[in-house]
Amino acid sequence: MAGHDRPGPTVPLEEARRQLLSSLNRLAPRSVPLDQALGAVVAAPVIAAEDVPAFANAAMDGYAVRAEDAREAPCRLRIVGEVTAGHSADAPLGPGQAMAITTGAPMPPGSDAICMIEYTTLEGDNVVLEAAVRTGQHVRYAGEDVSNGNVVCDSGIEIRPVHIGVLASVGVLEVIVYPRARVGVLSTGDEIRMDPGPLGRGQIRDSNRHALLALVRTAGCDPVDLGVVGDDESGIAAAIEGAARDCDAVITSGGVSMGVADHMKTVLGRLSGGSAHWMEVAIKPGKPFGFATIGPGDTPVLCMPGNPVSAMVSFELLARSALRFMMGHTVLERPRLIATVEKPLVRQPDGKLHLVRVVVSVGEGRLLARPVGGQGSHQLRSMALANALAFLPDGKGIDAGETVPVMLLEPDAVPATESGP
Ligand code: AMP
Ligand code: MG
Repeated sequence: MAGHDRPGPTVPLEEARRQLLSSLNRLAPRSVPLDQALGAVVAAPVIAAEDVPAFANAAMDGYAVRAEDAREAPCRLRIVGEVTAGHSADAPLGPGQAMAITTGAPMPPGSDAICMIEYTTLEGDNVVLEAAVRTGQHVRYAGEDVSNGNVVCDSGIEIRPVHIGVLASVGVLEVIVYPRARVGVLSTGDEIRMDPGPLGRGQIRDSNRHALLALVRTAGCDPVDLGVVGDDESGIAAAIEGAARDCDAVITSGGVSMGVADHMKTVLGRLSGGSAHWMEVAIKPGKPFGFATIGPGDTPVLCMPGNPVSAMVSFELLARSALRFMMGHTVLERPRLIATVEKPLVRQPDGKLHLVRVVVSVGEGRLLARPVGGQGSHQLRSMALANALAFLPDGKGIDAGETVPVMLLEPDAVPATESGP
């Protein structure tokens, strides 16, 4: 029975990551509409087939002039017309002439500079330029931003809003990217209650599935809710097999420890033809971890521990990287920075890397970290109070004032402890 399995080998976190990542393939690239590409990774370089700007145009509202007519100020030129953005001049500009122009309007033929409206005065049909003008002043030339043939988005780039803008600026409205992974999330355990009704004896509410579905979304994937199955081999096997056909990856929680009801090893061993990997990662929390690739599509199945904090930490340190790798990313992990510890981080030596829930803030120009209370792997509330995990190496902990690497879990929400400029 599964509960009598021996624990997998103890491996350092980096080794667990290496084994996991080397078992994965990237998803097949496909073309997607630009407006669905945010966060995706470009799989084939995009080359501009046109210039931006497409034509020389005015960078300011004012008058298009011939610079040779206005080398000295003040000077008076005759206004021969007006050109606004989206239109072009009726006639070329001759010597001694000026044409009123708005920002973005094409330079009239013959003109080679703009005098800003602020430096002009109208005198009937004439304009007086109060400042001298040099050739090319306030002119935006064709191709100054992008030239036909430029690479506007290289392979491997994660598409941010600016890339969507630049691709749209050259008329590219479809882009070849690694698609978002469809990721199924399954909870396992006889005690897990899905609905909000009163809990029966020994029952607990399913927090993992909801948290993992949300984490999957933050990793840039499309989450698929696979519900809950009890601790029974055939039920777990059926749920995982079905999910592997429909999803690009499957994430489970629970059933990976050494208890008699922990069937995941047996099930995954069978579904993978004996090629599943089980290990004890030398981290706390998040120690038990297993994965396999199953079915005709070699769909990865990643098994998180059941304890809610362990499941989240395991996702952050292992599953997130796996999913991002599949989606073509080269930066796989959350940002890791160095923080100064405000209160001692206490621990005992046990051969493991401890991931300590901390609040990271910015103070006196540096990153500061202080632990939150309640570091048990079942204490999810303290995880909710934290915004980072400190990587506390094996040993006796570190004192206030020392530094520790921290992984930011909410990079957009690191509070400043001092008022900025
Ligand atoms: P297991 O890995 O199945 O031995 O579970 C370890 C601990 O995590 C047990 O206390 C479980 O009740 C708890 N647990 C398992 N799955 C979930 C879940 N989906 N939501 C919340 N707690 C869970
Ligand atoms: Mg269980």
